[in-house]
Amino acid sequence: MSKITYIDEAQFKNKRVLLRADFDVSLNPNYTIADDARIRNNLPTIQYLLKNHNRLICVAKLDRPKGRDSKFSLKVVVKRLHQYLPVYKVKLVDDFLSADKKLFANQTEKEILVLENIRFYPEEKKNDSRFSKKLAALSDVYVNDAFAMCHRTESSVVGVPRYLPAYGGLLLKREIETITKTIKKPKKPFVAIIGGAKIETKITLIGKLTEMADYVLVGGGLANTFLCAHGYEIGKSYCEYEKVAKARQLLFLAAQKHTAIVLPSDVVIGDPNNSENGGKVVKVDQIPRGAVALDIGSETKAKFGAIIAKAKTIIWNGPVGYFENPAFRRGTDFVYYAIAHNQEATSIVGGGDTLAAISSKEYLGKITHVSTGGGAMLEFIEKGTLPGIEALKK
Ligand code: ADP
Ligand code: MG
Repeated sequence: MSKITYIDEAQFKNKRVLLRADFDVSLNPNYTIADDARIRNNLPTIQYLLKNHNRLICVAKLDRPKGRDSKFSLKVVVKRLHQYLPVYKVKLVDDFLSADKKLFANQTEKEILVLENIRFYPEEKKNDSRFSKKLAALSDVYVNDAFAMCHRTESSVVGVPRYLPAYGGLLLKREIETITKTIKKPKKPFVAIIGGAKIETKITLIGKLTEMADYVLVGGGLANTFLCAHGYEIGKSYCEYEKVAKARQLLFLAAQKHTAIVLPSDVVIGDPNNSENGGKVVKVDQIPRGAVALDIGSETKAKFGAIIAKAKTIIWNGPVGYFENPAFRRGTDFVYYAIAHNQEATSIVGGGDTLAAISSKEYLGKITHVSTGGGAMLEFIEKGTLPGIEALKK
């Protein structure tokens, strides 16, 4: 059976390495770096490759630019990377297609080249094979350490490894091994907490979780679609009405599998743009017309808390409320503390917004695995593999 070779198993040295890195840091409104966890998570791989005298050419995307857009330049990343690796020169390659070939030919061991935001090239998302070949031509080997990108069938993720010896990085290894070990034979009770807004991106996963988990706790905007499926009035709350039928079907399926889908029994209603007034707790059958549900209520917190406290395996993705407004982040904080305080359980937490909601908190070390992947983690749990992982198997 084909499998991935990770860089600490492969014995290569003195190579030109194309590293698919994850530098997709979160940005402040003025486009400076808000949180550089993604860069830090790739440092072990970068340092390992450098120690073995390889010359690094990093490929990454930042945010979602529509074509070339200087706001999303990797300049900020290059600067930060240099701060972490002060003895190395870190150079941004503005356009690798038109760059002087000498830049690559003369690269020294003490120089890291970072290609400009790869999403500036429309070929990237199209997984254009000519584009992939041009990227591959820059190096001798390919290494992927961008777990959070592995669900994407893009050129730098699945295209390039077709043309080069391909390896997995150390972050990729940790993500794949920890998540696989946890979900292959989950200790019971297995509790999944799913929040966030868009149910569309998570509904197949919830379906899969009803087969795997004992409890699926649903909060956040997507809980509203389930409440709607139950026939509750949800006022002006976020809801995807076209998914209500699917939600109803899931509730039915879960009942057959003896999995409990636990929905909020009370919610905090309020004004999303007002943080002065903390909102009001109402039962789900008493949501007034026109009200907006923005967080789980106290009874729901107690219910979720009791289930999380008894869990042996926990997976959490998605804030259970509109946490960007501090008035509506209490439910999400509560879920976080409930998980951190259950030291008997193996816990996996992931998702871009989920991590943003908890990134400055104490006790993060008490969570077994904080995944860098959002969509990638969910799809990996659902399918057991990802296109970017398959592309590395030789
Ligand atoms: P992740 O990135 O962790 O996978 P999602 O992107 O699915 O999470 O969802 C996060 C978003 O969901 C946040 O912007 C949050 O404000 C929003 N959200 C959560 N609960 C609600 C709610 N009740 N109403 C509106 N938005 C919500
Ligand atoms: Mg998100």
